[in-house]
Amino acid sequence: MNKATPHPFAPLFEPLAIGPVTAKNRFYQVPHCTGLGHANPKAEVALRATKAEGGWGVVCTQEVEIHPSSDISPALEGRMWDDDDIPMHAAMTDAVHEHGALAGIELVHNGQHCANLGTRIPPIAPAHRPVDSYYPVQARAMNKTDIRNMRQWYVDAAIRSRQAGYDIVYVYAGHNMATLMHFLLPRYNDRVDEYGGSISNRVRLLQETLCDVRDAVGEHCAIAMRLAVDELLGKGGLQAEDEGREIVSMLADIPDLWDVNISGWDNDSATARFEPDEGYQEKYTSFVKQLVNKPVVGVGRFTSPTTMVSQINRGVLDFIGAARPSIADPFLPNKILANDIEAIRECIGCNICVSSDNVVSPIRCTQNPTMGEEWRRGWHPERTVKSQRTEQTLVVGAGPAGLECAHQLAKQGYPVMLAEAGLDVGGRLLNECRLPGLASYRRVRDYRAQQLSAMGNVELLLDNRLIAQDIIDTDFAHVFIATGSQWRRDGMGRAHPLGINIDKAALPVFTPDDIFAGSELPKHVLVYDDDHYYMGGVLAESLVAKGHTVTLVTPANCVSAWTEHTLEQHKIQARLLHLGVKVIVSQALRSANSNTALLNCVYSNTPTSINTDAIIMVTSRSPLDNLYTQSSQLAEANPGQFKTLINIGDSLSPSTVAAAVYAGHLAARALEDNTSKEHLFFRREMSQSPA
Ligand code: ADP
Ligand code: SF4
Repeated sequence: MNKATPHPFAPLFEPLAIGPVTAKNRFYQVPHCTGLGHANPKAEVALRATKAEGGWGVVCTQEVEIHPSSDISPALEGRMWDDDDIPMHAAMTDAVHEHGALAGIELVHNGQHCANLGTRIPPIAPAHRPVDSYYPVQARAMNKTDIRNMRQWYVDAAIRSRQAGYDIVYVYAGHNMATLMHFLLPRYNDRVDEYGGSISNRVRLLQETLCDVRDAVGEHCAIAMRLAVDELLGKGGLQAEDEGREIVSMLADIPDLWDVNISGWDNDSATARFEPDEGYQEKYTSFVKQLVNKPVVGVGRFTSPTTMVSQINRGVLDFIGAARPSIADPFLPNKILANDIEAIRECIGCNICVSSDNVVSPIRCTQNPTMGEEWRRGWHPERTVKSQRTEQTLVVGAGPAGLECAHQLAKQGYPVMLAEAGLDVGGRLLNECRLPGLASYRRVRDYRAQQLSAMGNVELLLDNRLIAQDIIDTDFAHVFIATGSQWRRDGMGRAHPLGINIDKAALPVFTPDDIFAGSELPKHVLVYDDDHYYMGGVLAESLVAKGHTVTLVTPANCVSAWTEHTLEQHKIQARLLHLGVKVIVSQALRSANSNTALLNCVYSNTPTSINTDAIIMVTSRSPLDNLYTQSSQLAEANPGQFKTLINIGDSLSPSTVAAAVYAGHLAARALEDNTSKEHLFFRREMSQSPA
């Protein structure tokens, strides 16, 4: 950028003091989980270092337990239980500092949000309450000694954080996941002592803890208060316009920084399906800056620099907080600095990242296949090994797998031909982004299409359905087949490993692909969902919008059961019920006769039936692997013609869009990596116990 012209997004690059430390810019990676935590310290360090390298002025940890009585096993978060935890944190702060960013640590006591499954300590809470998970254990009410102890644990953890090199130390009362938040809420805190009852009593412990931590480390470290100011529960919970405001007023200038959001996690990390707009938290959190004289950070799936600047200029926020946008693009700040806006991989709001943490596995991201792979595979989100080879590569199919594979191959320097049968690139995304709430999924296509169009070594052939002979007739050295999948019509799925015997003359059966292709459906339809991710529920929603009467039947106990892990399940079920979809759970589709679907209870086998004019089968998908199979067979007659002929993405194994993108990326990278012929090898973290 020419030095004479002001930067178009200059306010984002102004340094700002946070208590005794100063952030170099306004890009603030707020605490977020990674599914790596204390069990994968090297991966955790490399992930955070990559964010710092990408330009974030502040890079925080995930939640870090301050004591064994806050043991959130089996989830893998951070720990600062004793001095043995310091070195792994010091490695993180060193790596973050190397890039000129500040390092923040979110200290937490989880209280009734954890069952202490590892440490087997009875959980503690403001009052006797069952723990949040369905584990049959109750938290016991804290006595005065417990309260004194917890204050001391916070101080001890803060001092250790300071020793580990952190610049910002958090006191955490958010997401309904922290003892300090539980004390604020009358539904959990019915104590009759000075820590319960009035709002000032319920705030007391939070206030004492903030002051303790400030006294302990405040000279060197900034003290951040992370508070959920609204729970979106109306009068049944904390409300911004009521006690949320009072709490902020009472504590206003004690911390050096306010990190504010809404609770629970499903509201804070709302998916695009339910909160499509950037800055969706503004209406709840914007009051905070009016009440405090300290910098405020907030989130809202910010990916557009114009929106970010507007947040700062309008006095809504001082720092642009981001978890998911920083996962989808760790280099978002640097790209904005370079005014290379089209190069931003915008978060699509799918919460696949969140799901990893919820199923206790390393983080992954639909948009960014390198996320979580920085250490174990050595992948960088922007840089890549430049190949010394110039062999021609062919990618067949321009869905998520093919697009990513072509993009990564082109980045590695190969000449790439990308052949696509359709008239546009995007594969399944082109259909799915037209479903209600999924418009942002198109960003997976748009980013890659834009990048490819700007690369001189990529040739795109649209409207080109290749057959095996086409591939054999070429002299490409490396061929990647990414021809996708199709929804099955035969009902094969988890509940029906051999499919479902439906007499098509009695009842027509459609698949999601038929609907995408524009098939006319009768008025009354039954969506049979044995897939359990978004497709069944979102199709039901879209069919209601088109005027159909919809029944959704599933053998699971709830609608779109797996979306529990993307924090959407209850929202989806509520929306469908609200729209008038008839929801029938725990029933398996057995067969059909004239305009009647025959069901069986999955527990008792009791039969039942329901009238409908058609069945929409959402059960599982078949890989479209004919091209690969036939090409492989023909290639056998001519050994050595191809150095690479592989099948990737859904045409190998139908899965999530995230898995297809990852498969495309991995296949391209593997060309340079002779040690990973099977594409399976990655570095593993070996646990080392202190002596
Ligand atoms: P994935 O998720 O694995 O990327 P998709 O189903 O989204 O799979 O995309 C597959 C793409 O491959 C689609 O755009 C489809 O049109 C294209 N395709 C399928 N068969 C062929 C073929 N024989 N030649 C070229 N393109 C093909
Ligand atoms: Fe965004 Fe989805 Fe990536 Fe999470 S997984 S950061 S929600 S694109």
